Amino acid sequence: MDCIFCKIASKAIPATLIYDDDQIVAFHDNAPQAPTHILLVPHQHIATINELGKENSDLISHMILTATQLAKDLSLADDGYRLVWNCNRQGGQAVYHIHLHLLGGRNMHWPPG
Ligand code: 5GP
Repeated sequence: MDCIFCKIASKAIPATLIYDDDQIVAFHDNAPQAPTHILLVPHQHIATINELGKENSDLISHMILTATQLAKDLSLADDGYRLVWNCNRQGGQAVYHIHLHLLGGRNMHWPPG
């Protein structure tokens, strides 16, 4: 399978990982949309969040809790930040391997574009 996030998570291609464990990795987005823009990506290939089921509850919980811990570690927590899951074409998904965006360091707008 030709999946860029599988390759990054498995270290088949080099990337600077800012978090790495047996379930997920985190790294900086290469086209950042905010001063801090981190992607949290599971090792397991899951194309979209539509494919998630109860069996993935621990994984999703772990992704969110790791994102909030990174936000605290990076001093984003007090001012605030945004976590985003994009799903399919109208949701703005470009990479079909689920990932959680952590964006911070500027004022966010609502509604999002
Ligand atoms: P999506 O639109 O699918 O929710 O977000 C995909 C994100 O992955 C985009 O923000 C894009 O900039 C980022 N991205 C795509 N390819 C790469 C890559 O090879 N390396 C990194 N670090 N980020 C990538």
